[in-house]
Amino acid sequence: MNPGANDPHDHPAASEHGDSSGGWLRPAVFGVSDGLVSNAALVLGVAAGGLSGSMVLLTGISGLLAGAFSMAAGEWVSVQAQREAVEREIAREREHHRRFPEQEAAHMREILVGTGLSEELAAVLVKELSRSPEENLGFHTRMELGVDPNQLDSPWVAASSSFVAFGIGALVPLVPYLLPLPGSQVAVSIGLSALATFGVGALLARFTARNPLWSGARQVLIAAMAAGVTMLIGSWLGA
Ligand SMILES: [Zn+2]
Repeated sequence: MNPGANDPHDHPAASEHGDSSGGWLRPAVFGVSDGLVSNAALVLGVAAGGLSGSMVLLTGISGLLAGAFSMAAGEWVSVQAQREAVEREIAREREHHRRFPEQEAAHMREILVGTGLSEELAAVLVKELSRSPEENLGFHTRMELGVDPNQLDSPWVAASSSFVAFGIGALVPLVPYLLPLPGSQVAVSIGLSALATFGVGALLARFTARNPLWSGARQVLIAAMAAGVTMLIGSWLGA
């Protein structure tokens, strides 16, 4: 969606800034990466320990759910805490507007002059804004707190998207245990996990401005070390 494409007021460089996905891509890629690495290490560890295919599947599904719930709970708590802090600030600002409207108007005139407007124009703007209290409060929170009171992050959206992202990543090493694929289940699980890990690493390069091939290879190396340790321990303890 690019509603500003033909809008003469839209700054031409605006679309070139940062993450054009609207901010969901980064947490999604990290969630998939977490699920992939942690469940590949878990699944390959118990498989190396000699568990049957159905036991590996049961372990992998448990690992998927445990990890996804844990990620979602952590995400919910963190976004909710952030939201409560912002809401407390907005409530404080609202109270201030009710008790000291003159002081708030003077403060906003100062802020506007600080952005380069003339005293006269700042006074006109502040006067216009004060006609609708809710709009005025929204303008103050955007200018002073950098947040739009009508667009606070939802803890439920954050929790459910990290649950889904982790689940997708954690599902990859389980594919040969869910579908009848040719070849050894462990080998197919390793192959699919390595491929997906490479893909995730290459995508992560978008946020670090690194070479995607190098980033993908590094990600595979990290995952291989994690899975290598669990496979060693699995085959050592044995089933
Ligand atoms: Zn204010």
